[in-house]
Formats: sequence, structure tokens, C-alpha cells
Amino acid sequence: MISCYIGLGSNLNKPAAQLRAACKSLRTIPKTSFICASSVYRTSPVGKIDQPDFLNAVAKLDTKLPGLSLLDALQEIENIQGRTRTERWGARNIDLDILLFGDQAFSFPRLTVPHPRLHLRMFMLAPLLEICDPNKRLPLGCMLKDVIQGCSSEKVQKTSISLFEDGV
Ligand code: ATP
Ligand code: MG
Ligand code: MG
Repeated sequence: MISCYIGLGSNLNKPAAQLRAACKSLRTIPKTSFICASSVYRTSPVGKIDQPDFLNAVAKLDTKLPGLSLLDALQEIENIQGRTRTERWGARNIDLDILLFGDQAFSFPRLTVPHPRLHLRMFMLAPLLEICDPNKRLPLGCMLKDVIQGCSSEKVQKTSISLFEDGV
């Protein structure tokens, strides 16, 4: 079993419902157990800033799948939720990224872990820190808590939105 952390993000078509639907689907991935998820954060768009705020969260999964098969499963969930890929870093129903895959570091054309921009993105690091040991040493070499200190902070607000219940 490999413990991995998945970043979830949405800023289109009812983001909270998109995150909930994705979370439900994460539980159906073969050879994989859903362990826990962070709070939901409201965050400013990064990169391309003229688009709505995002909701972001991180989920922890234990999996026996190889990384590329896990990526296939995540992309299938993105497709089911109507993700279209028009503009890089543009608005989207759902984005599911592999942030960490055990202690592994590798790069294939379709998959790089740790996520190559993890250390730059507070919207990934803040929810990750909630469900991960701050003293965890990333495959990048430094500790999670130190990476966070070096990261510029765009707006990243914890919300009371639930990933598991219908409602607001
Ligand atoms: P960013 O990678 O900056 O977060 P994005 O998530 O919007 O941007 P996508 O359009 O979702 O980018 O994915 C582009 C490609 O990135 C995917 O087709 C996938 O093959 C590749 N990719 C490489 N590493 C990863 C990873 N760790 N998690 C998810 N996708 C990855
Ligand atoms: Mg992404
Ligand atoms: Mg992605």
C-alpha cells in the first residue's frame, strides 16, 4: 500500500458539489482506500487571475495501483464531471492532481510526483498540512512545514463547507 495525497480544485458549476462528487468517486477507485480529507478552502486563482475563486481540498488515499493507473482513474473522474481542457490553468469543474505518491519522486511524460508546483502553491500546501505530518520530509528533501514558510500566500481561507454532506 502506498499513501498518496490528491489535490482537488474547482471554480465552475457549483464548486462545492463538484468537490463532493469527486470525493464520492475517489471511494470507488479499485485497489484503493479513501483515508481522510482536509477542510475545504476558498482560494484566489493563481497564474490566470481573471476567473472565479476556487474551492480546494486534499484527500489521502492508500493505493496498490501504480501511479499511472491512479492518474488514469483521476482523469476518468475529471471527464465524468465534464472537465474540458481548453485553456491552461483556466476555470474548471474539477481538477484532481497527485501531490504526493508515497515517498516516491519520478517523472514520466504524463506524471511527475511530487506535483512539480506543490512547493509554490499555498492552496495545495495548507490543506495538505492539515492531514499530513508537518515534519514529513518531502521527496524534494525539505520538510513540509519549511516548504510552507517559503511559499508566498495568496488568499487561502478555510471554510466550513463539508465535503461529505449536501447543503450550502
Ligand atoms: P497544474 O499541473 O499546474 O496543476 P492543471 O492541473 O490544470 O495544471 P491539467 O490540465 O489537469 O493541468 O493536467 C495536465 C497534464 O498534467 C495531465 O494530462 C497529466 O498527464 C499531467 N500531470 C503531470 N503530473 C501530474 C500530477 N502529479 N498530477 C496530475 N496530473 C499530472
Ligand atoms: Mg492542477
Ligand atoms: Mg490537473
